[in-house]
Amino acid sequence: MIEDNYRQRGLRNNLVKKLRLKGILDESVLKAIGKVPRHVFFDNALLNHAYEDKAFPIGEGQTISQPYTVAFQTEKLEIKQGDKVLEIGTGSGYQAAILVELGAKVYTIEFQKKLYEHTKEFLPQIGYKPLFFFGDGSKGIPAKAPYDKIIVTAGAPVIPDALIEQLTENGILIIPVGDREKQKMVRIIKKNGKLLKEEFDSFAFVPLLGEQGWK
Ligand code: SAH
Repeated sequence: MIEDNYRQRGLRNNLVKKLRLKGILDESVLKAIGKVPRHVFFDNALLNHAYEDKAFPIGEGQTISQPYTVAFQTEKLEIKQGDKVLEIGTGSGYQAAILVELGAKVYTIEFQKKLYEHTKEFLPQIGYKPLFFFGDGSKGIPAKAPYDKIIVTAGAPVIPDALIEQLTENGILIIPVGDREKQKMVRIIKKNGKLLKEEFDSFAFVPLLGEQGWK
């Protein structure tokens, strides 16, 4: 286990300050980012980069999202203690850890077997215990639906119908939608059977694969 010393905590506090300057306002989100040790998700060779506000490779051609992106998506979800949250794209597990830290009951699904196996083993070792699923999350996880919140951490070509269906009344979906290189962050809120849609800035995610994703 890699230690979490005063130096790492100092770097993490600086990262939190930077995110605040970049416009993240939700104190509970900032607190969670200040708490989850991001450096333990990194290989030794990249350890010095753990508290930069950048995405990094985590193997299998996938990435750990940029802290600003994690903070932005999480803030838009307005997580409350006990919320049932579905995350599509477990990856490193960092985003899932932030959600658990905020008191959510997290269901996370990953399409790459090796990543699924790695993160399912690793994350509980550092104290975060979401429920792990392997498979195509572009269809959600119907068997466990509905969810108060759904977060997609890979870029989608369209908003999968299945995800909207699996939201509770007043549920919130946050999903990057666009082409393979660049996506607009979209938030859908389900209210009185209607869908409220908001669009935010552009981001660059790895592609969402699967039935409702890229072929
Ligand atoms: N949330 C992650 C970021 C992951 S990058 C983190 O905090 O580190 C996006 C992830 O989505 C990749 O691991 C990729 O394998 C996964 N993915 C892509 N398409 C998927 C699908 N249809 N279902 C589930 N996971 C998918």
